[in-house]
Amino acid sequence: MSADERRVPARRLTQARRVVVKIGSALLVDQATGRLNRHWLEMLAADLARMHARGQQVLVVSSGAIALGRRHAGLPAGRLKLEESQAAAAVGQIRLAHAWKEVLEHHGLKVAQVLLTLDDTEQRRRYLNARSTFMTLLGLGVVPVVNENDTVATSEIRYGDNDRLAARVAQMLAADCTVLLSDVDGLYTSDPGRDREAVHLAEVTDISGRIVAMAGGPGSADGSGGMSTKIEAARIALAAGCHLCIARGAVAHPLQAIENGARCTWFVARQSPLAVRKQWISGTLRPAGDLVIDAGAAAALGRGKSLLPAGLVEVRGRFDRGDAVRIVDGRGVELARGLCAYSSVDAARIAGRRSAEIESLLGWRGRAEIVPRDDLVLMPSGQQEDADD
Ligand code: GLU
Repeated sequence: MSADERRVPARRLTQARRVVVKIGSALLVDQATGRLNRHWLEMLAADLARMHARGQQVLVVSSGAIALGRRHAGLPAGRLKLEESQAAAAVGQIRLAHAWKEVLEHHGLKVAQVLLTLDDTEQRRRYLNARSTFMTLLGLGVVPVVNENDTVATSEIRYGDNDRLAARVAQMLAADCTVLLSDVDGLYTSDPGRDREAVHLAEVTDISGRIVAMAGGPGSADGSGGMSTKIEAARIALAAGCHLCIARGAVAHPLQAIENGARCTWFVARQSPLAVRKQWISGTLRPAGDLVIDAGAAAALGRGKSLLPAGLVEVRGRFDRGDAVRIVDGRGVELARGLCAYSSVDAARIAGRRSAEIESLLGWRGRAEIVPRDDLVLMPSGQQEDADD
């Protein structure tokens, strides 16, 4: 394959709207000295700044807190006890965040630190909160630097490795591309360190049992970050419609290298994140209530618009913010299904009113749409009716 041909798959990175980049501890922290690989980090920051400048939203999932903290905390080499690694993480995270702030600010980028615990992606209310914080940060042009909140995570409630954390963040934010920067340049048919016949795979579209076996299967991962956790991450990403790339990180300008066609493995998603989300809304959720809308709002939905409070006539059922609801006309015909941005109580209070009035009605500033169009799927019968009108 020529270098030009190798650049074609890299469009998944260059043309992505929202990209999650995960960096492993071994890249950030020199194993021998326990010090930050500052020069390398500066090159990576330059890559991220270039992506940001071309209009891409970037999120960093950065490991390295424990690796960086253990030396500063005066902990011995070798395996740490749980509370020791949590202490090391507390010492290291502050340094890690500071380093990210320095290297990204150098390019005029704003940086935020986000520490997540497993519940933040697995529990609905916390998930919704974390998601809106991330969305706000991205809207403000800030680069979130994410890590697991190691200091409070216990073994039962943790992601355990940042590969999976990165995939969960990508899923939460409907990112279209995730890059795992690693010590290997992708997936091989067998371990290339042991088997000279091992063949590199440039593209994977299905995570079959064969692929899992190539990664060494579960249980063979060397703690966090083995190939099998990367395959797990790929599985989460693909199910969310997000492409995922495993690439070697220990090169100059590692993201630029991928763009230039460096060898890596692409896990290719068949659907866009939006299509996956819409499928999930229309198919698998049990609606918790109904929003009855007027003819004007129904026509607007047919034109691909969001549902605004002005067109809402009545709210039926009890539901929370983020719950799935049916959107029905005056006769009860389901026109669409969507995720309501307000609870049933709040939705009823703003029904029929202008979006500008929301703040004075509720006492806080919610979003202008009751159901944003990305969270809304027209039902076939609804489309039919609309076409008949
Ligand atoms: N959260 C850990 C740290 O920052 C790293 C986890 C991982 O390497 O996957 O040290």
